[in-house]
Amino acid sequence: MSDTLKAIKGMNDILPGSVPRKDKLPDSALWQWFETTVRSVLGRYGYQYLLTPIVEPTALFVRGLGEVTDIVEKEMYSWHDAMNGDHLTLRPEATAGIVRAMVEHNALYNGPLRLWTMGPMFRHERPQKGRYRQFHQLDVEALGFAGPDVDAELILMVRRLWKELGLVEGQHVRLEINSLGQPAERAAHRAALVAHFQDHVAELDEDARRRLHSNPLRILDTKNPAMQAVVESAPRLIDFLGPESMAHFDALRAMLDAAGLAYRVNTRLVRGMDYYNLTVFEWVTDQLGSQGTVCGGGRYDGLFAQLGGRPTPAVGFGLGIERLLLLIQELGLPVPDASPDAYAVVADASGLPQALATMEALRGAGVAVQMHAGGGSMKSQFKKADASGARFALVFGGDELARGMVGVKPLRDATLTQADQPLGDVAAWAATLRRPAPDA
Ligand code: ATP
Ligand code: MG
Repeated sequence: MSDTLKAIKGMNDILPGSVPRKDKLPDSALWQWFETTVRSVLGRYGYQYLLTPIVEPTALFVRGLGEVTDIVEKEMYSWHDAMNGDHLTLRPEATAGIVRAMVEHNALYNGPLRLWTMGPMFRHERPQKGRYRQFHQLDVEALGFAGPDVDAELILMVRRLWKELGLVEGQHVRLEINSLGQPAERAAHRAALVAHFQDHVAELDEDARRRLHSNPLRILDTKNPAMQAVVESAPRLIDFLGPESMAHFDALRAMLDAAGLAYRVNTRLVRGMDYYNLTVFEWVTDQLGSQGTVCGGGRYDGLFAQLGGRPTPAVGFGLGIERLLLLIQELGLPVPDASPDAYAVVADASGLPQALATMEALRGAGVAVQMHAGGGSMKSQFKKADASGARFALVFGGDELARGMVGVKPLRDATLTQADQPLGDVAAWAATLRRPAPDA
């Protein structure tokens, strides 16, 4: 065993729930339910799906995220391609790649687009609960809209996603918003901020001193408890916003208020990436320790131009799927039952041709049938039927088959009785096996 190969630290397998695992990571049924729910909710808002490559030129992220960001400074998996020396990077986030694709295909020529994608991201961080080196994001972008209506729509769409996943907004997840204003306002704030931090330079840690001139705004993002006082007393960006920025923020707030969505204005909320302006938001939870941000996003009107495209307003968010599913799991929220409708036990191999044909007819009628493969005693087959979570066992016994019938045995509902059903007329009884629709 000593020389068996293992997954890379911080990169996880996502497995069916029937596979026991020590790390208690959410199983694949939870992932599929999340994906189905996302597809349904986003479709109702007119968002379209796209996929972009996992590997991109390193320059995309250096230009797109900014050199003095955690991601570009120390979290990227980058290498020189052995064949031609190209400098490549595993994507640490999805927005830069999507914007690259839009510019490359002149995709906004016919008007704005609402887009979403989902997939793995890579960051070389210290692995811990809710923080991995390969993790997955749902990423949503509204491109070509100046907002703030579309900012509000995005945030309300996330609220709807919470609702359909069973998360209670205000209790399990809370919304925080802020405005980062425009570049000129940020420059004025930045000058005041540098002056403030210079006055308190003794209280700054090494990271902060290094960022004092390169990226002082990011100092506000510090997780160092020793620096909380100097950060608390720093000048607030919101006090430097001009009337247009304030109007955008006020309009967003009015729409959220009218929709009955509670939020906290967190004037210290900044985002890790440099490209954000105006609206920023995070959905946070108290249940996951310091990995409390489940979803974060905002407006990035400057990114298209920064990546060589035509100036284009844009807003979007990334949602950490592992964190979200861990939260759902820890709260013990009900998740849909993924077990089959029926489990087929076959007494003797001679019955398999008829049994398989019947199962095919049932699946054609929309019934989820799991076949017991590999034979064995009826007792052991019934044990497996029970363990499968199926609501019915289909009993293909010698007697039943001889009469052209299959036994339908209820496994979960004591009010139902066992009955034989005709093999030749599956359509007449298939519906009695199907799981009732959730709100029927
Ligand atoms: P954090 O402050 O927790 O490092 P971030 O600001 O770096 O988060 P974003 O770049 O905004 O995160 O990514 C959006 C979301 O992706 C986060 O809110 C989080 O839910 C998730 N996420 C980010 N990094 C990781 C990671 N290493 N492992 C798991 N999920 C992550
Ligand atoms: Mg991070």
